[in-house]
Amino acid sequence: MGAQTLMLRGTLGFLLLLGVFAGTAQAASVPAVTAFPVVGNVSYSDDFGAPRAQGRHEGNDIMALRHQPAVAFERGRVEKHVGSSMGTCMLYLRGVSGMTYVYIHLNNDLTMQNDNRGGCRNGVSWAPGLRNGQTVRRGQLVGFVGDSGDANGGMPHLHFEVRTPSGGAINPFAYLNQAKRLLYPRPAASDPIRLILRRTRVVSVGAGTLTVETRRIRVSSQSADFSRRRQVVLALPPEAIVERITSTGRVAADLAGATPGTVVRVTTSSFAPSWATQRAAAGVLSIGYVTIY
Ligand SMILES: [Zn+2]
Repeated sequence: MGAQTLMLRGTLGFLLLLGVFAGTAQAASVPAVTAFPVVGNVSYSDDFGAPRAQGRHEGNDIMALRHQPAVAFERGRVEKHVGSSMGTCMLYLRGVSGMTYVYIHLNNDLTMQNDNRGGCRNGVSWAPGLRNGQTVRRGQLVGFVGDSGDANGGMPHLHFEVRTPSGGAINPFAYLNQAKRLLYPRPAASDPIRLILRRTRVVSVGAGTLTVETRRIRVSSQSADFSRRRQVVLALPPEAIVERITSTGRVAADLAGATPGTVVRVTTSSFAPSWATQRAAAGVLSIGYVTIY
């Protein structure tokens, strides 16, 4: 074999290798259907690349309330991290797509104040029981919004990054705009749950439906409730229990005469957690129990 042939082979091999790597990098992309990484009412803007003290901003800042649930953008494996210098509570989500999502400034406060007493741990920063290397579903609870690290004392927010397999950060903005907003964070277990919609207001009563605007929501299997303002159309089956609080106690009541703005507490009937119930399109969730205040 001549030297030229060897060189050609070497070059071809090198080019093939390059092709393989390029192919791998191109194959990874953000999935079409993703879960918005914070459950609750948020604001964010296209602040990727904005100048910051540490250099160019490598993600988007999603402003939210302290302790709002953070959920998995897509299915993947989680890695919990604590920033060495600032004590930043962080999460890496290695998506099955090959993309990595970085969650920064997770909560380190025990109260609604900036008390810095929680540290970085499960139930404070990360979901209760979350293990390193655990596979989580899209929309599963992974952590809580806060102000840890160099956001300490500032407005609580989730700094969210999208990274390609080569590690480069890309602008999350368009992906956040496309991501599906969820009504509740999915628990790790598949056991049936109920949602308790607290301080909810009646919007309208239809034939077999009740439209409400939610304020605070608790998942029956989770210990804390969270703020979530959203209209939901609930199925109102005949067997639903409706009661009114009076000075003498609870009495059976009827929603037929409920005027818009009436404050109610709704407990849904029991259901298995799913993407469809997290999306909560009209009639997907059904009422088990209503208390009229
Ligand atoms: Zn940021």
